[in-house]
Amino acid sequence: MGRERERTTCCVVGGGPAGMVLGLLLARAGVEVTVLEKHGDFLRDFRGDTVHPSTLRLLDDLGLADRFEALPQRHVHSVQLPIGRGGELFTVGDIGSLPGKYNYVAMVPQWDLLDLLADEANREPSFRLRMNTEVTSFLMERGRVTGVRYRDRAGGSAGELRATLTVACDGRGSLARALPELGLREFPCPMDVWWFRLPRRASDPQGLVGNAGERFLTAMIDRGDYWQCAVLIPKGADAKYRAEGLDRFLTSFEEATPWMRPGTGTADRDTRPRSWDEVKLLDVRMDRLRRWHRPGLLCIGDAAHAMSPVFGIGINLAVEDAVAAARHLAGPLRAGTVGLGDVRAVQRRRWPTAAATQRLQRIAHARVIEPLLQGRSQAVGGEPLRLAEVLTKAPWLKRAPAYFLAYGAGRERPPAASVRRSG
Ligand SMILES: Cc1cc2nc3c(=O)[nH]c(=O)nc-3n(C[C@H](O)[C@H](O)[C@H](O)COP(=O)(O)OP(=O)(O)OC[C@H]3O[C@@H](n4cnc5c(N)ncnc54)[C@H](O)[C@@H]3O)c2cc1C
Repeated sequence: MGRERERTTCCVVGGGPAGMVLGLLLARAGVEVTVLEKHGDFLRDFRGDTVHPSTLRLLDDLGLADRFEALPQRHVHSVQLPIGRGGELFTVGDIGSLPGKYNYVAMVPQWDLLDLLADEANREPSFRLRMNTEVTSFLMERGRVTGVRYRDRAGGSAGELRATLTVACDGRGSLARALPELGLREFPCPMDVWWFRLPRRASDPQGLVGNAGERFLTAMIDRGDYWQCAVLIPKGADAKYRAEGLDRFLTSFEEATPWMRPGTGTADRDTRPRSWDEVKLLDVRMDRLRRWHRPGLLCIGDAAHAMSPVFGIGINLAVEDAVAAARHLAGPLRAGTVGLGDVRAVQRRRWPTAAATQRLQRIAHARVIEPLLQGRSQAVGGEPLRLAEVLTKAPWLKRAPAYFLAYGAGRERPPAASVRRSG
């Protein structure tokens, strides 16, 4: 098969939140950029839906606030966690108490956000998005990554794309992770996640609703006419729980979520999942590369640090990585001087936030999630209750986790050339 030889300045592997934001910002800053995405569209269910204030503020800076607000969405002003099974809910992040216009988390299907970013980026003459294009390996010359080999999944052809810099935004299964010098460090996770849908009625609660059941935890994402349900189960328990039968699970699920019970007027038993095929398993992983770069290559987003679903913060970290990368790299890429020092600067800037967030997620795994999933909820009840008491007594303490959830460790600003004021 004949191979095409093509060239771009920045090759972005993967059109998830990190890749699409990076592509848009670089193209607006006048850098020639090509995003390669292996899927033919953005319609995938196993993605988070949360758009935090840091990303909302970015969209505003980019002049996209009005278009974003026109997307179907729900607003969540606080995050509540249950203490023990059927236990009291306590607020860990009262984002609504923060000053400013964007004091909420917008729950928006990720494909809508990605479509918006793609549409906006496609207006830039230096941007190219190639869907159905799977990167299969890196091109290497004298120890430097000089681009990628790809396969067109629709047409079956293969090709090579040379680039001054390649940025791996291809998520937790990133090709870059096979490069041993980047050093993958993995952290144990106590849970896996089941995903399924349930119908939602107008009288149901709104936003993001969590609860604790018998050795599982639920997080239900309001998507208007249906709930996208995530159920956290103990790591490796999938086969055992499935063998116990779907009815048994659905009955305990409804016990934990009484307003979903048939006969309460909120859900119809006929529309519950009818077979395990409708309940998808997601293997939860948390890890981080020690080094996010090598000559010619930078990793950001989940490719550099796969996050636990706890706090629903992975999309926003991926977006902030992209903003920081665009800010550090746009100038050197335009000038053709991008070097190892520039990509190192991106890791130096973003590593502390990624590491601190994973540290907090590990604490939540060990102190709250694992005991609840192992049926030791009473044993931990005291500790979260004491924490809840402290958090509700001191308003500034309530704001600290809210601020962290909303903005992370610090604000990332896009390059000036990428900013557009709406109106
Ligand atoms: C169960 C679960 C629930 C979560 N819920 C939330 C949540 O509610 N809120 C939140 O903020 N975060 C959540 N997260 C985390 C969030 O999904 C990720 O952190 C975020 O999507 C990372 O963005 P990314 O762009 O780095 O990678 P991804 O979103 O993984 O995007 C990678 C892209 O690269 C493409 N790709 C992969 N390989 C190739 C290749 N070889 N060639 C070309 N393209 C390729 C993929 O198709 C994909 O489009 C959750 C994670 C899990 C596991």
